[in-house]
Amino acid sequence: MTTEHSTPADQNPFPFREHAERHEADVVVLGGGGAGIAAALAAAEAGARVVVLEKGNKPGGAAMFGGTGYAAYGSAAQREAGESFSAEEAVQAILEHTDGRADEALVRAVVARSGETADWLSAHGLKSALAEAPHDPADPGEDSELLARHRRARTYHRYASKFGGFKKLLKAIEEAGGLVIPEAAATEAVADERGRILGVRAERTEAGKPLSPERREQLKADGVAEAIDIAAPAVVVATGGFVGNHELVGRAAPELETSRLRFTGERKSVGTGCSVVQALGGAGAEPAALDAPAFGVPGRYSSKALAVLANLPLLWVDDDGRRFADEASTYRFGERGRAGLERGGRFWMILDSATVQRLTEQGLELAPAEDHGAPLPPGTEGTPAQPRLVEALEEAVEQGAAVLGAAPDDLAGAAGFHPERFAETLERYNAAVRTGRDDQFGTPAAILRHPVQEGPLYAVQVVSTVRGTLGGVRIDASARVLDADGQPVPGLYAAGNEASGFWGGRYPQIDGLTLLFAFNSGRIAGEAAAAALPA
Ligand SMILES: Cc1cc2nc3c(=O)[nH]c(=O)nc-3n(C[C@H](O)[C@H](O)[C@H](O)COP(=O)(O)OP(=O)(O)OC[C@H]3O[C@@H](n4cnc5c(N)ncnc54)[C@H](O)[C@@H]3O)c2cc1C
Repeated sequence: MTTEHSTPADQNPFPFREHAERHEADVVVLGGGGAGIAAALAAAEAGARVVVLEKGNKPGGAAMFGGTGYAAYGSAAQREAGESFSAEEAVQAILEHTDGRADEALVRAVVARSGETADWLSAHGLKSALAEAPHDPADPGEDSELLARHRRARTYHRYASKFGGFKKLLKAIEEAGGLVIPEAAATEAVADERGRILGVRAERTEAGKPLSPERREQLKADGVAEAIDIAAPAVVVATGGFVGNHELVGRAAPELETSRLRFTGERKSVGTGCSVVQALGGAGAEPAALDAPAFGVPGRYSSKALAVLANLPLLWVDDDGRRFADEASTYRFGERGRAGLERGGRFWMILDSATVQRLTEQGLELAPAEDHGAPLPPGTEGTPAQPRLVEALEEAVEQGAAVLGAAPDDLAGAAGFHPERFAETLERYNAAVRTGRDDQFGTPAAILRHPVQEGPLYAVQVVSTVRGTLGGVRIDASARVLDADGQPVPGLYAAGNEASGFWGGRYPQIDGLTLLFAFNSGRIAGEAAAAALPA
């Protein structure tokens, strides 16, 4: 089968498989998520014939199903709002937070484009509105002055209507002559003996999974090939990292017990992009960082009450029963993520029956921290009543995700805490609530509102929620994949969660940075791939 994108095959010696559906393109984009869509649109607008391969039945990836917005600096919306936090300050904040381990040229290239990219996305249908500064209990936490200022600045562009917006971006790719093929999983890129890229091979999927026998029969009856071959001299790898491959996540973060963690990222991203790149001589970079900014309760629950609870600043203790951090860091994106990861991905939240009752019936005056760590919408105050909380807690106790005790000793026994340490923790915490002064971690009085006194007491397991892996493939500031000697591999580009260099192995405490990187690195990759084509 050929399409209108086809050109004579003799222009590219790509070894098409006999039974494969055949296409010819200038640029093939692997993955139709945030980075892939931006890459495809940019390349198509620059005049390249583009084919996007998307493993799932709907393009969009985590950028669409998970994302709520992205950071940008210098957009039209920010200029109108008089927001003064600049791209240069953002570059400094990112470099500072990554202890200078991020690639400065790449950070600059990506951040410098971000305002204009916000306008570009908006012009193509993915509209956003500038979010107000996030809820902030005026607690600087671990932030430097620069990071704290960044946290208060209006840099977060919240999607206005994401599903409609992504549809429009896909339409824009097609209007610019691009072809998006859903249910097509890229498996390898083919190069000649000199290392020149010839094209890509892919296999048809069923909503991202291997074909069922029934579907296979159907395809056969319809005369649709299972294999898809695309001849093209340039490839952008934007397959979203490897969060869907828990074994690889475990290897990247050996200090974590992956079975403890919750995963909410793109399951279809299993590390294929990295293997495609490495097979062509592209180098791996520093170990990928985990994007794990939020907390959840392990297991599957029908009630949202536990998701709300897990992200509230109530008393946190470690496996020993000791308090370990300023709980107000739940409001500081990145810092709260680290708080969980540094405890191996799990800690406990302690609350007494008075707090359970209050949260169930009236709600709490403490604002919720959104599950994904995005800034709260303006006007958000307190946490509303969670009428199903008691029911959800009972379910969690049944499933072993929470334990109950009539008194501190019983709770310590059930949770495995050191009884004396736990008793001391409660004593110090309750004193801090009483006096409004926390000598241990400096939690502000506004947060210290709920003593742990009246039994029964609950200890609820809280685990880190991993929504992505950040990095793996080494790229330069033009998103070109580099080999082990730091030289570009001709025709090969990578972007989004697949690419390294922006994170320095650490997730910065800046909200919306993952999508900032995905959209902008993708756009840079698409433009660079198109620009390198022979005239
Ligand atoms: C729940 C959740 C909430 C989030 N919220 C935010 C937020 O508000 N702000 C923010 O900045 N970031 C957020 N993120 C992170 C952000 O969504 C990702 O960092 C970003 O989407 C990465 O872009 P990407 O293009 O690399 O990957 P994705 O957008 O995930 O796209 C990868 C695509 O590649 C496809 N694919 C995988 N393998 C193949 C293959 N072999 N062949 C073809 N296609 C393939 C996948 O199906 C997917 O469509 C969130 C993530 C999650 C999970």
